[in-house]
Amino acid sequence: MNGSNVIDLSRRYVRFYATHIECDFCGELSRGRIYDSMQAVVCGSCGGVWWTFEHSDEWHEEAWDG
Ligand SMILES: [Zn+2]
Repeated sequence: MNGSNVIDLSRRYVRFYATHIECDFCGELSRGRIYDSMQAVVCGSCGGVWWTFEHSDEWHEEAWDG
């Protein structure tokens, strides 16, 4: 099964949170991962997508102002 809400956990990623938080999907503790080709934070245990950066325009506006 290749569900759109689950990603391959073997790919490269960076951790998102400084501390572990509980996953809504599997209940495990994870710091969240952001994978290279994804604009999303996913659970490091089950790969469930916590949320995405689809509306990133706001971030760009902040950067240009600086
Ligand atoms: Zn999970």
